[in-house]
Amino acid sequence: MKLSQNGWVVIAGLGPGNEALVTQEVRDAIGEATDIVGYIPYVKRIAPREGLTLHATDNRVEVDRATHALEMAAEGKRVVVVSSGDPGVFAMASAVFEALENNAESKPEWLDLEIRVLPGITAMLAAAAAIGAPLGHDFAAINLSDNLKPWSLIEKRLQLVGEAGLAMAFYNPRSKSRPHQFARALEILREACGADTLITFARDVTKPGQELLTVPLKDATPEMADMRTVVIVGNRDTRRVGNYVYTPRYAAEG
Ligand code: SAH
Repeated sequence: MKLSQNGWVVIAGLGPGNEALVTQEVRDAIGEATDIVGYIPYVKRIAPREGLTLHATDNRVEVDRATHALEMAAEGKRVVVVSSGDPGVFAMASAVFEALENNAESKPEWLDLEIRVLPGITAMLAAAAAIGAPLGHDFAAINLSDNLKPWSLIEKRLQLVGEAGLAMAFYNPRSKSRPHQFARALEILREACGADTLITFARDVTKPGQELLTVPLKDATPEMADMRTVVIVGNRDTRRVGNYVYTPRYAAEG
């Protein structure tokens, strides 16, 4: 990909952790960047070099970070905003467009900046591949954090998606600040999907120390998940074959 010499913003996915899973176009963009913006653990993955400024922030307000990236690009800098996994999955790409929209009247010139989203391998796909093919049929990806939406909406979606017979992948499943919520999520899932449905806890996928655990929902406990875990719940047809877990590509009428 040839990038222009004017300022630009690239929102790049670094994949789930293993450096071999960073795409070549993301490497190229980082190689051409003057500035890297992102949450501390993601920026740590970028090798420092002359001419590259690393802006690692602990700030959880993603739109502020995105606004900073746009400001720098407007000054002519080549800015890469890094996310883990894919930048469009519960990550920075939406935040950049939100910042663009918020400033559309005061900074209309930002609308002409070159902004590109470079995809990465999202956690659920790396986790699915690590255990077999649990997302081989229809599925939904759900963020279990109630930072940006009410918990009541999460409960409603779990219920309806479970009843619809879709497999599910959960991001941000369980944080210390809301330990009871994931227990409640498991309760809803047992009811909506059936207690024998398989659930997989995939922790630190593709990183050293990767952990994979698959149990039926009836044996799942909240402690099996933390914020470094992506959780995959199968549909009623999801099954084991040997050491693998897979979901057939067909489904009977619901
Ligand atoms: N944009 C990221 C998701 C950010 S939300 C992506 O596409 O993967 C952060 C959540 O992603 C974590 O709480 C966890 O649920 C999941 N996650 C990210 N990397 C992971 C990994 N290597 N192993 C397991 N889960 C991971």
